Amino acid sequence: MKDKLRSLPQVSAVLEREDVRELLSSYPRWVVVEAIRRVLEERRKKILDGLDVEVSEASVAQEVIERIEFFSLPSLKRVINATGVVLHTNLGRAPLPKEAVGAMAEVAMNYSNLEYDVKQGRRGLRYTHVVELLKKITGAESALVVNNNASAVFLVLNTLAKGKEVIVSRGELIEIGGSFRIPDVMKAAGSILREVGTTNKTKLSDYESAIGENTALIMKVHTSNYRIVGFTESVPLRDLVVLGERYGIPVYEDLGSGLFVDVRRFGLPYEPTVKESLRAGAHVVSFSGDKLLGSAQAGIVLGREELLEKIRKNPINRALRIDKLTLSALEATLRIYMEGEEAAVERIPVLRMLSEKVEVLKMRAEKVAKLLSERIGGYTFEVIEDVSTVGGGALPTAELPTFCVAVNGGDCREIDRRLRTRPTVPVVGRIKQDRLLLDMRTVREEEVELLVEMVEVALR
Ligand SMILES: *Cc1c(COP(=O)(O)O)cnc(C)c1O
Repeated sequence: MKDKLRSLPQVSAVLEREDVRELLSSYPRWVVVEAIRRVLEERRKKILDGLDVEVSEASVAQEVIERIEFFSLPSLKRVINATGVVLHTNLGRAPLPKEAVGAMAEVAMNYSNLEYDVKQGRRGLRYTHVVELLKKITGAESALVVNNNASAVFLVLNTLAKGKEVIVSRGELIEIGGSFRIPDVMKAAGSILREVGTTNKTKLSDYESAIGENTALIMKVHTSNYRIVGFTESVPLRDLVVLGERYGIPVYEDLGSGLFVDVRRFGLPYEPTVKESLRAGAHVVSFSGDKLLGSAQAGIVLGREELLEKIRKNPINRALRIDKLTLSALEATLRIYMEGEEAAVERIPVLRMLSEKVEVLKMRAEKVAKLLSERIGGYTFEVIEDVSTVGGGALPTAELPTFCVAVNGGDCREIDRRLRTRPTVPVVGRIKQDRLLLDMRTVREEEVELLVEMVEVALR
């Protein structure tokens, strides 16, 4: 062991090597020295643990070079989503329409009229850029946008029901991944949760008997990521609105995913749209910008002007405010919706992927399988039928027929690891019955070439 420790090279010796010295033309000396020290230290520890370790100067130099080069690549980068999950929260939810990206770049690289009214030559409001569009598209009386839907829920509760009771059905006390749970948000916003009914059944009379002096809000939460089926009953929004109005209590619906088009036209299960909520009379509605709406991360609040005015003026709104880049992306996306449903389905990637015809996916899978077979030996690539899911807390029971390329030959976990760990563009597929599948629903046509290239490098 002592011999082995002694034969580890000195920092200065590694630093003198030609290949390591080359690094100094691109990276500061301390970065290189630090990397050498780290690698040597780690090898020293391994030797002390009795492990078998390479001690040659060349192998140390090799690791130093790899590490520095890997570290110099961006950490946040594009990936190819071959999971088939259209709204994958861990993969950044909605890819943006081209128009939104263009608008963001323009606003990002220049000054903008973010809060400047060019007609009047004085201070303006950042919300003006999207409020009219939102009103036109949804028929809402007023609109407000914030950082995300979690902020929207918090802000609505904190403004309209701080220190007061909010009535919610026990069947709707949702958790949306991680730390967003309705009872916890309620507490953080200073509201008192008044749960009514049971997990599977809540009646109008349950809501009515819970109304008291301290009731400030009736809240309906869309069960975005689960469904209660079987012996169930819930109260339609319309009936809650009638009840609320009888007692002078506003009704707020957290819709989760904001849908502007009816997805039944793509053969998907029914999912309420924003318009329907407003038409049913909800006084306030909120939803995400980057779920089924297909835009950037944002929380959109729609509803009665007198309530939204209060929400807008809540000092916490400033802490949750929407950023100018998001705002420009959102505006550009809304303008596509203004052109009508056809334009939206064609140009908003999320809607496009959800509505893509299965024959198109089959052709894409055949193309990918053919290209991969031509370029890579030792594996076979098979086109198979399967189902994709929507993900992102939307349409939890929907199953979309799809076509995948299955990679056969070798351990699927090892294949998956190699594809995921591409330093340039990682490819994330899904494992099913001990096979790695590349689902074509979430691989866009223009990504096919890159996908093939990445799989080729990974498996070679
Ligand atoms: C997704 C979701 C949220 C949280 O929205 P974010 O945009 O992720 O902050 C809140 N409520 C419901 C019902 C949701 O589905």
